[in-house]
Amino acid sequence: MAMKEVIYLDYNATAPMRGCAFQAMMDVACAPHNASSVHAPGRAARRIIEEARVKVAALIGAQPSQIIFNSGATEGNNTVLKFFAGERVLVSAIEHPSVYEPLPTSEKISMTADGIVDLAALEKMLREERAALVSVMYANNETGAIQPVKEIAEIAHKHGAFYHCDAVQAAGKIAIDMAADGIDFLSFSAHKIGGPQGVGALALGLCGVTPVLLEGGGQEKKARAGTENVAGIAGFGAAAAEALQQLENFQKLCSLRETLEKSLQKISPEIVIHAKGAPRLANTSFFSLPGAPSETLLMNFDLEGIAVSNGSACSSGTVRPSRVLRAMGCDDALTTSALRVSIGWDTSESDIRRFTEGWAKIASFMRRSEKISS
Ligand code: PMP
Repeated sequence: MAMKEVIYLDYNATAPMRGCAFQAMMDVACAPHNASSVHAPGRAARRIIEEARVKVAALIGAQPSQIIFNSGATEGNNTVLKFFAGERVLVSAIEHPSVYEPLPTSEKISMTADGIVDLAALEKMLREERAALVSVMYANNETGAIQPVKEIAEIAHKHGAFYHCDAVQAAGKIAIDMAADGIDFLSFSAHKIGGPQGVGALALGLCGVTPVLLEGGGQEKKARAGTENVAGIAGFGAAAAEALQQLENFQKLCSLRETLEKSLQKISPEIVIHAKGAPRLANTSFFSLPGAPSETLLMNFDLEGIAVSNGSACSSGTVRPSRVLRAMGCDDALTTSALRVSIGWDTSESDIRRFTEGWAKIASFMRRSEKISS
Protein backbone atom coordinates (compact mmCIF):
# COMPACT_ATOMS: atom_id res chain seq x y z
CA MET A 1 0.00 0.00 0.00
CA ALA A 2 1.48 3.38 -0.96
CA MET A 3 2.00 5.77 1.94
CA LYS A 4 -0.07 8.91 1.56
CA GLU A 5 1.95 12.10 1.00
CA VAL A 6 3.11 13.26 4.41
CA ILE A 7 4.41 16.67 5.37
CA TYR A 8 7.58 15.69 7.17
CA LEU A 9 8.60 18.11 9.93
CA ASP A 10 10.71 15.78 12.07
CA TYR A 11 14.25 16.21 10.67
CA ASN A 12 15.85 16.05 14.13
CA ALA A 13 14.59 12.47 14.51
CA THR A 14 15.89 11.45 11.09
CA ALA A 15 16.19 13.26 7.78
CA PRO A 16 15.07 12.12 4.34
CA MET A 17 17.95 10.60 2.40
CA ARG A 18 19.66 12.93 -0.05
CA GLY A 19 19.70 11.74 -3.67
CA CYS A 20 23.50 11.94 -3.77
CA ALA A 21 23.77 9.64 -0.72
CA PHE A 22 21.37 7.10 -2.22
CA GLN A 23 23.30 7.15 -5.50
CA ALA A 24 26.67 6.74 -3.75
CA MET A 25 25.30 3.71 -1.88
CA MET A 26 23.76 2.13 -4.96
CA ASP A 27 27.03 2.54 -6.85
CA VAL A 28 28.82 0.24 -4.41
CA ALA A 29 26.13 -1.80 -2.64
CA CYS A 30 26.25 -4.95 -4.77
CA ALA A 31 30.03 -5.50 -4.90
CA PRO A 32 31.70 -7.94 -2.46
CA HIS A 33 33.44 -5.15 -0.59
CA ASN A 34 35.58 -6.14 2.36
CA ALA A 35 38.08 -3.36 2.89
CA SER A 36 40.46 -5.69 4.75
CA SER A 37 40.90 -7.96 1.73
CA VAL A 38 43.97 -7.48 -0.42
CA HIS A 39 42.29 -8.40 -3.73
CA ALA A 40 40.93 -5.84 -6.17
CA PRO A 41 37.36 -5.56 -4.74
CA GLY A 42 38.87 -5.20 -1.27
CA ARG A 43 41.22 -2.44 -2.42
CA ALA A 44 38.29 -0.71 -4.14
CA ALA A 45 36.39 -0.79 -0.85
CA ARG A 46 39.37 0.73 0.96
CA ARG A 47 39.47 3.59 -1.58
CA ILE A 48 35.72 4.25 -1.16
CA ILE A 49 36.09 4.39 2.61
CA GLU A 50 39.11 6.69 2.52
CA GLU A 51 37.40 9.09 0.08
CA ALA A 52 34.37 9.24 2.36
CA ARG A 53 36.60 9.79 5.39
CA VAL A 54 37.95 13.00 3.82
CA LYS A 55 34.41 14.36 3.27
CA VAL A 56 33.12 13.35 6.69
CA ALA A 57 36.15 14.91 8.43
CA ALA A 58 35.67 18.18 6.53
CA LEU A 59 32.13 18.54 7.90
CA ILE A 60 33.47 18.93 11.45
CA GLY A 61 36.77 20.66 10.64
CA ALA A 62 38.85 17.58 11.45
CA GLN A 63 41.60 15.66 9.65
CA PRO A 64 40.60 12.34 8.00
CA SER A 65 42.94 10.46 10.37
CA GLN A 66 40.76 11.58 13.29
CA ILE A 67 37.63 9.78 12.02
CA ILE A 68 36.62 6.32 13.31
CA PHE A 69 33.59 5.00 11.42
CA ASN A 70 30.97 3.20 13.51
CA SER A 71 27.21 2.53 13.54
CA GLY A 72 26.07 5.98 14.70
CA ALA A 73 26.00 8.44 17.55
CA THR A 74 24.56 5.96 20.06
CA GLU A 75 27.63 3.80 19.58
CA GLY A 76 30.01 6.77 19.62
CA ASN A 77 28.49 8.07 22.85
CA ASN A 78 28.56 4.64 24.53
CA THR A 79 32.16 4.11 23.40
CA VAL A 80 33.34 7.26 25.13
CA LEU A 81 31.18 7.07 28.26
CA LYS A 82 31.94 3.40 28.97
CA PHE A 83 35.65 3.97 28.43
CA PHE A 84 35.52 6.24 31.50
CA ALA A 85 33.51 3.80 33.67
CA GLY A 86 34.75 3.87 37.27
CA GLU A 87 35.94 7.48 36.97
CA ARG A 88 34.11 10.67 37.82
CA VAL A 89 32.08 11.75 34.79
CA LEU A 90 29.89 14.86 34.46
CA VAL A 91 27.13 15.02 31.83
CA SER A 92 24.62 17.78 31.20
CA ALA A 93 21.04 17.22 32.36
CA ILE A 94 19.71 17.55 28.79
CA GLU A 95 21.81 14.84 27.15
CA HIS A 96 20.33 12.21 24.86
CA PRO A 97 19.78 8.85 26.65
CA SER A 98 22.84 7.43 24.87
CA VAL A 99 24.97 9.81 26.97
CA TYR A 100 22.70 10.15 29.99
CA GLU A 101 22.23 6.44 30.70
CA PRO A 102 25.39 4.37 29.98
CA LEU A 103 27.01 5.36 33.29
CA PRO A 104 24.40 5.41 36.07
CA THR A 105 26.98 7.09 38.33
CA SER A 106 27.52 10.07 36.03
CA GLU A 107 26.74 13.36 37.74
CA LYS A 108 24.36 15.76 36.05
CA ILE A 109 25.25 19.39 35.29
CA SER A 110 22.35 21.80 35.73
CA MET A 111 20.84 24.01 33.03
CA THR A 112 19.61 27.58 32.77
CA ALA A 113 15.92 28.24 32.06
CA ASP A 114 16.90 28.86 28.43
CA GLY A 115 18.34 25.37 28.05
CA ILE A 116 22.02 26.33 28.16
CA VAL A 117 24.45 24.46 30.39
CA ASP A 118 25.17 26.39 33.60
CA LEU A 119 28.89 27.13 33.22
CA ALA A 120 29.28 28.36 36.80
CA ALA A 121 27.75 25.11 38.09
CA LEU A 122 30.12 23.09 35.88
CA GLU A 123 33.14 25.02 37.10
CA LYS A 124 32.07 24.57 40.73
CA MET A 125 31.66 20.79 40.30
CA LEU A 126 35.12 20.54 38.78
CA ARG A 127 36.72 22.78 41.41
CA GLU A 128 35.27 20.68 44.23
CA GLU A 129 36.60 17.40 42.88
CA ARG A 130 38.53 16.31 39.80
CA ALA A 131 36.57 14.61 37.01
CA ALA A 132 37.94 12.53 34.13
CA LEU A 133 35.30 13.47 31.55
CA VAL A 134 32.77 16.20 30.83
CA SER A 135 30.09 15.46 28.24
CA VAL A 136 27.87 18.23 26.90
CA MET A 137 26.12 18.06 23.52
CA TYR A 138 26.68 20.66 20.77
CA ALA A 139 22.99 21.37 20.20
CA ASN A 140 19.96 19.90 21.90
CA ASN A 141 17.68 17.62 19.88
CA GLU A 142 14.47 18.97 21.48
CA THR A 143 15.01 22.72 21.88
CA GLY A 144 17.77 23.22 19.31
CA ALA A 145 19.70 25.27 21.92
CA ILE A 146 23.36 25.57 20.90
CA GLN A 147 25.74 25.08 23.81
CA PRO A 148 28.86 27.20 24.48
CA VAL A 149 31.18 24.32 23.54
CA LYS A 150 34.37 26.35 23.44
CA GLU A 151 33.87 27.64 26.99
CA ILE A 152 32.90 24.15 28.18
CA ALA A 153 36.10 22.71 26.67
CA GLU A 154 38.19 25.45 28.30
CA ILE A 155 36.67 24.84 31.72
CA ALA A 156 37.02 21.04 31.40
CA HIS A 157 40.66 21.27 30.29
CA LYS A 158 41.55 23.82 32.96
CA HIS A 159 40.49 21.23 35.53
CA GLY A 160 42.21 18.28 33.83
CA ALA A 161 39.09 16.65 32.32
CA PHE A 162 38.54 15.51 28.73
CA TYR A 163 35.62 16.96 26.79
CA HIS A 164 33.19 14.74 24.85
CA CYS A 165 30.58 16.37 22.63
CA ASP A 166 27.55 14.66 21.08
CA ALA A 167 27.37 16.78 17.92
CA VAL A 168 24.78 14.70 16.09
CA GLN A 169 22.24 17.54 15.92
CA ALA A 170 24.77 20.25 15.06
CA ALA A 171 26.73 18.53 12.27
CA GLY A 172 25.48 19.71 8.91
CA LYS A 173 23.36 22.43 10.55
CA ILE A 174 26.08 24.81 11.80
CA ALA A 175 29.80 25.15 11.10
CA ILE A 176 31.90 22.98 13.41
CA ASP A 177 35.64 23.29 13.91
CA MET A 178 36.56 20.49 16.27
CA ALA A 179 40.12 21.70 16.92
CA ALA A 180 39.15 25.35 17.49
CA ASP A 181 36.32 24.23 19.78
CA GLY A 182 38.76 22.12 21.84
CA ILE A 183 36.69 18.93 21.60
CA ASP A 184 38.48 15.69 22.54
CA PHE A 185 35.81 13.23 21.37
CA LEU A 186 32.95 14.07 19.01
CA SER A 187 30.07 11.78 17.99
CA PHE A 188 27.88 12.23 14.93
CA SER A 189 25.72 10.26 12.57
CA ALA A 190 24.84 10.00 8.86
CA HIS A 191 21.06 9.79 9.04
CA LYS A 192 20.62 13.24 10.60
CA ILE A 193 22.29 14.90 7.60
CA GLY A 194 20.54 13.01 4.82
CA GLY A 195 22.77 9.94 4.79
CA PRO A 196 21.78 6.36 5.60
CA GLN A 197 20.85 4.99 9.02
CA GLY A 198 23.23 2.71 10.92
CA VAL A 199 26.46 4.53 10.13
CA GLY A 200 28.24 7.34 11.93
CA ALA A 201 31.61 8.31 13.31
CA LEU A 202 33.52 9.11 16.45
CA ALA A 203 36.10 11.82 15.84
CA LEU A 204 39.15 11.83 18.06
CA GLY A 205 40.71 15.16 19.03
CA LEU A 206 44.36 15.76 19.62
CA CYS A 207 44.48 14.44 23.21
CA GLY A 208 46.01 11.11 22.10
CA VAL A 209 43.39 8.94 23.85
CA THR A 210 41.39 6.38 21.81
CA PRO A 211 38.29 5.00 23.54
CA VAL A 212 37.43 1.54 22.22
CA LEU A 213 34.16 -0.36 22.69
CA LEU A 214 34.23 -3.14 20.08
CA GLU A 215 37.35 -5.30 20.02
CA GLY A 216 38.33 -8.40 18.08
CA GLY A 217 39.36 -7.10 14.67
CA GLY A 218 41.90 -4.65 13.37
CA GLN A 219 39.46 -2.39 11.54
CA GLU A 220 39.58 1.39 11.91
CA LYS A 221 43.12 1.25 13.27
CA LYS A 222 41.98 -1.18 15.99
CA ALA A 223 39.58 1.46 17.32
CA ARG A 224 36.37 -0.22 16.11
CA ALA A 225 36.24 -3.91 15.22
CA GLY A 226 33.83 -5.23 12.60
CA THR A 227 33.68 -5.33 8.80
CA GLU A 228 33.11 -1.79 7.57
CA ASN A 229 29.69 -0.80 6.22
CA VAL A 230 31.12 0.27 2.87
CA ALA A 231 27.87 1.33 1.19
CA GLY A 232 26.77 3.18 4.33
CA ILE A 233 30.09 4.97 4.61
CA ALA A 234 29.93 5.97 0.94
CA GLY A 235 26.44 7.42 1.55
CA PHE A 236 27.67 9.20 4.68
CA GLY A 237 30.52 10.79 2.69
CA ALA A 238 28.21 12.02 -0.07
CA ALA A 239 25.71 13.44 2.42
CA ALA A 240 28.47 15.16 4.41
CA ALA A 241 29.88 16.85 1.31
CA GLU A 242 26.48 18.14 0.23
CA ALA A 243 25.53 19.24 3.76
CA LEU A 244 28.77 21.22 4.06
CA GLN A 245 28.20 22.86 0.71
CA GLN A 246 24.65 23.83 1.73
CA LEU A 247 25.48 25.07 5.23
CA GLU A 248 24.64 28.69 4.40
CA ASN A 249 21.31 27.67 2.91
CA PHE A 250 20.44 25.82 6.08
CA GLN A 251 20.59 29.10 8.06
CA LYS A 252 17.81 30.46 5.83
CA LEU A 253 15.39 28.02 7.48
CA CYS A 254 15.36 30.56 10.29
CA SER A 255 12.89 32.71 8.38
CA LEU A 256 10.49 29.76 7.89
CA ARG A 257 10.72 29.05 11.61
CA GLU A 258 10.03 32.70 12.39
CA THR A 259 6.91 32.61 10.22
CA LEU A 260 5.83 29.43 12.00
CA GLU A 261 6.36 30.79 15.53
CA LYS A 262 4.66 34.12 14.78
CA SER A 263 1.61 32.33 13.37
CA LEU A 264 1.43 29.99 16.36
CA GLN A 265 1.62 32.89 18.82
CA LYS A 266 -1.15 34.67 16.94
CA ILE A 267 -3.46 31.64 17.01
CA SER A 268 -2.55 30.58 20.59
CA PRO A 269 -1.18 33.54 22.61
CA GLU A 270 -0.73 31.22 25.62
CA ILE A 271 1.86 29.12 23.78
CA VAL A 272 5.35 28.93 25.35
CA ILE A 273 8.31 28.68 22.95
CA HIS A 274 11.27 27.00 24.63
CA ALA A 275 14.89 28.23 24.54
CA LYS A 276 13.77 31.31 22.65
CA GLY A 277 16.42 33.40 24.38
CA ALA A 278 19.25 31.02 23.47
CA PRO A 279 21.12 30.68 20.20
CA ARG A 280 19.15 27.95 18.42
CA LEU A 281 19.53 25.68 15.41
CA ALA A 282 17.75 27.42 12.52
CA ASN A 283 15.45 24.47 11.89
CA THR A 284 14.08 23.71 15.35
CA SER A 285 11.04 25.01 17.20
CA PHE A 286 9.92 23.44 20.48
CA PHE A 287 6.80 24.78 22.17
CA SER A 288 4.10 23.88 24.69
CA LEU A 289 0.40 24.63 24.83
CA PRO A 290 -0.45 24.15 28.53
CA GLY A 291 -3.40 21.77 28.93
CA ALA A 292 -2.95 20.15 25.51
CA PRO A 293 -1.34 16.70 25.99
CA SER A 294 1.55 16.02 23.58
CA GLU A 295 0.15 12.64 22.54
CA THR A 296 -3.22 14.16 21.57
CA LEU A 297 -1.48 16.85 19.53
CA LEU A 298 0.77 14.27 17.86
CA MET A 299 -2.15 11.98 16.99
CA ASN A 300 -4.19 14.81 15.56
CA PHE A 301 -1.32 16.04 13.41
CA ASP A 302 -0.76 12.50 12.21
CA LEU A 303 -4.41 12.35 11.13
CA GLU A 304 -3.80 15.59 9.20
CA GLY A 305 -0.86 13.91 7.42
CA ILE A 306 1.77 15.98 9.25
CA ALA A 307 4.70 14.27 10.99
CA VAL A 308 5.99 16.11 14.05
CA SER A 309 7.34 14.95 17.41
CA ASN A 310 7.29 15.72 21.09
CA GLY A 311 11.08 15.53 20.96
CA SER A 312 11.51 12.59 23.31
CA ALA A 313 9.60 9.65 21.87
CA CYS A 314 11.27 6.50 23.12
CA SER A 315 11.74 3.33 21.08
CA SER A 316 8.33 1.95 22.06
CA GLY A 317 6.71 4.96 20.42
CA THR A 318 5.13 6.14 23.66
CA VAL A 319 5.19 9.80 24.68
CA ARG A 320 6.92 10.75 27.91
CA PRO A 321 7.13 14.13 29.61
CA SER A 322 10.23 15.95 28.42
CA ARG A 323 13.24 15.45 30.73
CA VAL A 324 14.95 18.31 28.89
CA LEU A 325 12.16 20.74 29.78
CA ARG A 326 12.18 19.47 33.36
CA ALA A 327 15.91 20.24 33.55
CA MET A 328 15.10 23.77 32.35
CA GLY A 329 12.73 24.19 35.31
CA CYS A 330 9.43 23.77 33.43
CA ASP A 331 6.41 22.44 35.36
CA ASP A 332 4.25 19.43 34.41
CA ALA A 333 1.82 21.59 32.43
CA LEU A 334 4.67 22.43 30.04
CA THR A 335 6.64 19.15 30.05
CA THR A 336 3.56 17.11 29.08
CA SER A 337 2.25 19.43 26.36
CA ALA A 338 5.34 19.95 24.22
CA LEU A 339 5.58 19.62 20.47
CA ARG A 340 8.69 19.83 18.29
CA VAL A 341 8.76 20.96 14.69
CA SER A 342 12.13 20.37 13.02
CA ILE A 343 12.40 21.35 9.39
CA GLY A 344 15.02 20.78 6.71
CA TRP A 345 16.20 21.28 3.16
CA ASP A 346 12.99 19.96 1.59
CA THR A 347 10.60 22.03 3.74
CA SER A 348 8.63 24.68 1.86
CA GLU A 349 6.56 27.72 2.83
CA SER A 350 3.47 25.75 1.92
CA ASP A 351 4.44 22.99 4.42
CA ILE A 352 4.62 25.63 7.16
CA ARG A 353 1.25 27.04 6.09
CA ARG A 354 -0.28 23.55 6.19
CA PHE A 355 1.12 23.06 9.68
CA THR A 356 -0.28 26.35 11.00
CA GLU A 357 -3.68 25.63 9.41
CA GLY A 358 -3.59 22.25 11.15
CA TRP A 359 -2.60 23.92 14.40
CA ALA A 360 -5.51 26.40 14.19
CA LYS A 361 -7.95 23.51 13.69
CA ILE A 362 -6.49 21.24 16.38
CA ALA A 363 -6.01 24.01 18.98
CA SER A 364 -9.60 25.21 18.55
CA PHE A 365 -10.90 21.63 18.78
CA MET A 366 -8.89 21.10 21.98
CA ARG A 367 -10.14 24.37 23.46
CA ARG A 368 -13.74 23.29 22.79
CA SER A 369 -13.27 19.82 24.30
CA GLU A 370 -11.60 21.38 27.35
CA LYS A 371 -14.67 23.61 27.84
CA ILE A 372 -17.03 20.64 27.46
CA SER A 373 -15.11 18.51 29.98
CA SER A 374 -14.74 21.34 32.56
N1 PMP B 1 22.25 12.05 20.33
C1 PMP B 1 21.26 12.87 19.98
C2 PMP B 1 21.25 14.27 20.50
C3 PMP B 1 20.25 12.45 19.11
O1 PMP B 1 19.29 13.29 18.74
C4 PMP B 1 20.30 11.11 18.62
C5 PMP B 1 19.24 10.59 17.68
N2 PMP B 1 17.94 10.70 18.16
C6 PMP B 1 21.35 10.29 19.04
C7 PMP B 1 22.31 10.78 19.88
C8 PMP B 1 21.47 8.87 18.55
O2 PMP B 1 21.97 8.86 17.24
P1 PMP B 1 21.94 7.54 16.33
O3 PMP B 1 20.56 7.41 15.86
O4 PMP B 1 22.92 7.83 15.26
O5 PMP B 1 22.39 6.41 17.17
